[in-house]
Amino acid sequence: MIKAYNLSHSFDYELFNNISLSVKPKEKVSIIGVSGSGKSTLLHILSTFLKPNSGEVYLFNKNIYEIKEKELIEIRKNKIGIIFQFHYLFNGFSAYDNLKVASLLAETKIDENLLKRLKIEDVINQNIQTLSGGQQQRVSIARVLTKKPKIIFADEPTGNLDRNTAFEVMGILEEYCNENNASLVMVTHDEELAKKCDTIYKLENKQLKKWTT
Ligand code: ADP
Ligand code: MG
Repeated sequence: MIKAYNLSHSFDYELFNNISLSVKPKEKVSIIGVSGSGKSTLLHILSTFLKPNSGEVYLFNKNIYEIKEKELIEIRKNKIGIIFQFHYLFNGFSAYDNLKVASLLAETKIDENLLKRLKIEDVINQNIQTLSGGQQQRVSIARVLTKKPKIIFADEPTGNLDRNTAFEVMGILEEYCNENNASLVMVTHDEELAKKCDTIYKLENKQLKKWTT
C-alpha cells in the first residue's frame, strides 16, 4: 500500500534523515513522537502533499514523483482520505451537505449506520458552525470514510474528543479498515491510542523506529 524509502526533510532544522516505512493492506500504523518532531510533516509527505528533500514514496506500487499529474489527482481524489488535526468542513452548510459533497465526488453512498456509530445522526441537518468541536471532528471523519478510501491518513484524529469518544472513534476507524481492506496511518502523541494499531513507530532524534512497550 505504502512504501517510503530514505526520506529526509528539513525546514529550519533537519527533522528526519533517511527514514523508511512500509504499510500493508489492512495494516494500522501509528506514529508517535513529541511535538515538533516532524510527525505532521511526515504525514504530509506520505499523503502526497509535500515533497521531501530526498527520498521516494510509492503508493499502490506507484512512485508518486514519477506518475502523471492526472494519476496523482486520481489517487488524491479516490484512493486516499485525510483526517487533519484541524478539520476543513464547509462552514455555512449542514453536516449532511458536507457528507453529500464527498459522496457525490466519490460516487458512494452516505452510510446511515456510520452516522449512528459516530453519534452525529441527530445533528446531521444542523449547520456546521452550530456543532461542537468534537461533533465537527466526527463529521469530518464521516466525510473521509464516505469517500471509501484505501488508505486513511490521520493527524491527531481524536484531538478534540474526550477519552471515551476517542477510543470509540478509533474503533470505528479500525473496523472501517478491516471491512474495506484499507490501511491507516495515524499520527498521535497519545501512546494508549497508538497501541490500538498493529504497528507503532516512534519519530525521535531524526529517526523512525519500531516502538514496543
Ligand atoms: P509535529 O507534528 O511532530 O508536532 P511538525 O511536523 O508539525 O511536528 O513540525 C516540525 C517542525 O517543522 C516544527 O518546528 C515546525 O515549526 C516546522 N515546520 C512544519 N511545517 C513547516 C513549514 N511549512 N515551514 C516551515 N517550518 C515548518
Ligand atoms: Mg503535528
